Amino acid sequence: MTPPRVLTIAGSDSGGGAGLQADLRTFFACGVHGMTAVTAVTVQNSVGVSDYHVIPPEVVAAQIRAVATDIGVQAAKTGMLATAETIAAIADALDQVHIGPLVVDPVAASMHGDQLLRDEALDALKSLLFPRAEIVTPNLDEVRLLTGIDVTDRVRQYAAAEALHAMGPKWVLVKGGHLWTDPSCVDLLFDGAEFTELDGPRFDVKDTHGSGDTLASVITSALAKGRTVPEAARLGKAFIVESVRAAYPLGAGVGPVSPLW
Ligand code: PLP
Repeated sequence: MTPPRVLTIAGSDSGGGAGLQADLRTFFACGVHGMTAVTAVTVQNSVGVSDYHVIPPEVVAAQIRAVATDIGVQAAKTGMLATAETIAAIADALDQVHIGPLVVDPVAASMHGDQLLRDEALDALKSLLFPRAEIVTPNLDEVRLLTGIDVTDRVRQYAAAEALHAMGPKWVLVKGGHLWTDPSCVDLLFDGAEFTELDGPRFDVKDTHGSGDTLASVITSALAKGRTVPEAARLGKAFIVESVRAAYPLGAGVGPVSPLW
């Protein structure tokens, strides 16, 4: 039987740790059929991103149209989008085809600090993709870039969720992994009315490459299977905890989380 079909609009990580490689293996682990619209090819290993090549925006849009018109897309996610032109082309393509719920993971930089989204593209991300999003899933570095709020405690995490929700997505998940002072790891879910804290353990480990991509991919897969956003977020949280536990070392730098445990 044909499984639910999901699309990731994202960059390639040559090291296989994050990006569309992480998305595809997570989709497989979740039992959905994964498809890709490649936005950029990074030159990357466990130590960092040394360069990237941006795929022409019209080629990104064509990939989206090709799979949506033939295979169908029950849910989609965005990862590394690189430029404002690419974001505009994606928004245009999404106007032309039917896709299910859109998960926007506002990838701005790698965990090593390598920039994956040009500064001028932040506005395009907010104005063109946030209003189309079922859910946006920023980490605290991305929250600072998007809202100017430096989340140093739970109160500011709530304020950031409100500020992000005002930008148009139906749901916001403000991930608390980078709130290093917090002994646990609380991701805050908000739909404009109700806050839900998703609590999980904090691991003192180095190998967490691709964790954001993996979480957003689980949420996308669950939405494609007809789960509600709170159900999908809870599944994602449970899944990422086990994926971090199953992470493995790779190369001289940071290893990836693993969806197989
Ligand atoms: N490289 C690509 C292509 C990505 O899409 C991402 C994140 O989405 C990263 C690198 C960064 O992953 P991490 O933050 O785990 O280093």
